Amino acid sequence: MSKVIVIGGGPAGMFAAYFAAKNGHKVTLLEQNEKLGKKLYITGKGRCNITNASDMENLFANVCSNEKFLYSAFYSYTNEQVVDFFESYGLRTKVERGNRVFPLSDHSSDVIATLSKALKDVGVEVKLYTKVAKLLSDEYHDENGETVVADKKNGVLKQVIRGVLLEDGTSMQADSVVLATGGISYPSTGATGDGYRFAEGLNHKIVEPSPSLVPFEVQESWVTEMQGLALKNVAITIEREGKKLYDDFGEMLFTHFGVSGPMILSASASIKPAYFKDFAHELKLKIDLKPALDREQLDKRILKDFEESKNKQYKNSIQKLLPSKMIPIIIRLSGIDPDKKVNEITKEERMKLVELLKALPMTIIGLRGWNEAIITKGGVSVKQVNPSTMESKLVNGLYFAGELLDLDAMTGGYNLQIAWSTGYLAGSSIQ
Ligand SMILES: Cc1cc2nc3c(=O)[nH]c(=O)nc-3n(C[C@H](O)[C@H](O)[C@H](O)COP(=O)(O)OP(=O)(O)OC[C@H]3O[C@@H](n4cnc5c(N)ncnc54)[C@H](O)[C@@H]3O)c2cc1C
Repeated sequence: MSKVIVIGGGPAGMFAAYFAAKNGHKVTLLEQNEKLGKKLYITGKGRCNITNASDMENLFANVCSNEKFLYSAFYSYTNEQVVDFFESYGLRTKVERGNRVFPLSDHSSDVIATLSKALKDVGVEVKLYTKVAKLLSDEYHDENGETVVADKKNGVLKQVIRGVLLEDGTSMQADSVVLATGGISYPSTGATGDGYRFAEGLNHKIVEPSPSLVPFEVQESWVTEMQGLALKNVAITIEREGKKLYDDFGEMLFTHFGVSGPMILSASASIKPAYFKDFAHELKLKIDLKPALDREQLDKRILKDFEESKNKQYKNSIQKLLPSKMIPIIIRLSGIDPDKKVNEITKEERMKLVELLKALPMTIIGLRGWNEAIITKGGVSVKQVNPSTMESKLVNGLYFAGELLDLDAMTGGYNLQIAWSTGYLAGSSIQ
């Protein structure tokens, strides 16, 4: 029986602790917060979208960074096994739209209670209010007493984990340590970025973290006038230098700073933070408000509306076409005199209106910050981690799991599947 310390009581850490203890190790789970799973509690708007019940191909297709690294993890502990695990501990689940799996009760607190019960069941010692300050390690010596070079390019010697130093100054010895401290989004849940510093302290490379699944800030101040307006069945395109980077169809929302909603959050996963450092090339967001009609069909539709309200002023003639909050903005942007009678509107003016409705343009000037990002892109580079075990290639006995790694996925339960699968692999690989 070896001594294992798991740092971080989120989904990845809880799973790693559970499976290490199940294999007979003496496991202590350290969590700085007053309770386990503080972020898990707010997932899925408090309902916790545990995983996604689709096939493997779709799981991989929804991973945005380093999906190949996840091959062993996803196959070692599948989405079906996740559901079986929770069901075996008495948590009933259900599958909703888009194969999203939720607890039948719709309460994330039930997911956390189930995990706590499981941890107790296998004898994991949980220490709350316990903040780790540093990882302890020694130089590794092989059987001949020689030091071993772990990274030839950078001349890094292999280390061996010894335990952790706590913030209160006490140290704890361990044969293995699992680092599962998460990312830096939603800092109020305990996401401090500590894990990056710990890993970096032991020569691990950190891929620059950036917020993802996050709303966009846009330049145009008129969006604030539409704050709270939700649009359904619209299409978006994101372009840079006229080149299409992304397109999608679905729901979005105007906010006091720009745009949000499911389609925008997903779009953010394909926006590189470097784009915002290059001011010469603007990022354009275009909304097609009438994706079911091409420009010609839309023009006919507008003409029909105009004919029905011949003597009306332009400002009173597009009510049927758009939500009321949007009308003053579209009128302004079209440049057509709002008091003009519709039968006096020229074809050229009408074409301007068609263009606006098919491609309402905005300039994306940034991503909202860490307080609003669902996940962190970037993190501990997977190049220095063994994908079959989650063990560090530089430090014997140091394992990684969850969002701390340079892994991220779309919304739909995929990020938690990453946490469960990597947590399982780390915990069950400990010798
Ligand atoms: C609002 C919101 C909704 C989401 N909804 C979903 C969803 O429905 N489905 C889905 O798949 N994903 C969802 N996610 C993403 C998902 O929650 C994360 O990907 C997942 O929680 C990552 O798990 P983790 O265990 O790696 O990290 P975390 O859950 O962040 O856990 C890390 C833990 O480590 C602890 N810790 C950090 N540093 C230290 C230290 N020095 N000492 C001791 N403890 C430390 C932290 O306090 C924390 O409890 C959502 C995220 C957010 C923010």
